[in-house]
Amino acid sequence: MIEFTDVKKVYPDGTEALKNFSLKINEGELVALIGPSGCGKTTTMKMVNRLIEPTSGAIYINGSNINDYNIHELRWNIGYVLQQIALFPHMTVEENIAVVPEMKKWKRSQIQERSRELLEMVGLDPSVYMQRRPDELSGGEQQRVGVIRALAADPSIILMDEPFSALDPISREQLQYDIRELQQKIRKTIVFVTHDIDEALALGDKVCLMQEGRIIQVDTPQQLVLHP
Ligand code: ADP
Ligand code: ADP
Repeated sequence: MIEFTDVKKVYPDGTEALKNFSLKINEGELVALIGPSGCGKTTTMKMVNRLIEPTSGAIYINGSNINDYNIHELRWNIGYVLQQIALFPHMTVEENIAVVPEMKKWKRSQIQERSRELLEMVGLDPSVYMQRRPDELSGGEQQRVGVIRALAADPSIILMDEPFSALDPISREQLQYDIRELQQKIRKTIVFVTHDIDEALALGDKVCLMQEGRIIQVDTPQQLVLHP
């Protein structure tokens, strides 16, 4: 469903962020990309929704080159959860969740119903949380809203860049649990970035170990043998 074939990325200053990166991610898989800081995880994610272009090689989604998709449709079908909490501060939770569904011309009633369902799914009471603004939420609550906002318009792919990084251990465990539950309910293709091996092993169906712009190992958590 997502396939990288021999992707290379050289930034304008000469930094080689990805070297001959090839990877196939199947539909419905929850894949963890793990590796040290600077190994190319974020670069990989940003290329999927065309925030940056590969220098060479190609990326396919459902068999079609991502360059052949209308860029708006491509991005609407990919939910992206950023490392930094990126809710719109002047909007309520409900308005934040509604951004992409509105662009896709969903009906008001349908958007409201969807917002309620998603908030309940991550344990936030809609009657309390719909009308709150981001500064009235804890860090963990903001990240949970960030995750469900990415899911709102029913994208087929979800990319999450260190979605747990800003959380205290308890919120972190709660959100990890939420994401695993979500994955079991909605069967989406989810790729998430982490530099925490325990998190990768606990959550991933498949774990991809990266080092210096390359994948050095892809395996299930059960089979993964770490090379220190
Ligand atoms: P994270 O990977 O969660 O962003 P890190 O602890 O790995 O956090 O890095 C902290 C900060 O230092 C980040 O903002 C990151 O951009 C920067 N950083 C550290 N090493 C590198 C590197 N080799 N390349 C790019 N950024 C780096
Ligand atoms: P990770 O997410 O694994 O920490 P990144 O994909 O952010 O790694 O970065 C991979 C490499 O590319 C790092 O060496 C980083 O410093 C470099 N890099 C990232 N963004 C840029 C940029 N815009 N210009 C130049 N180098 C960059």
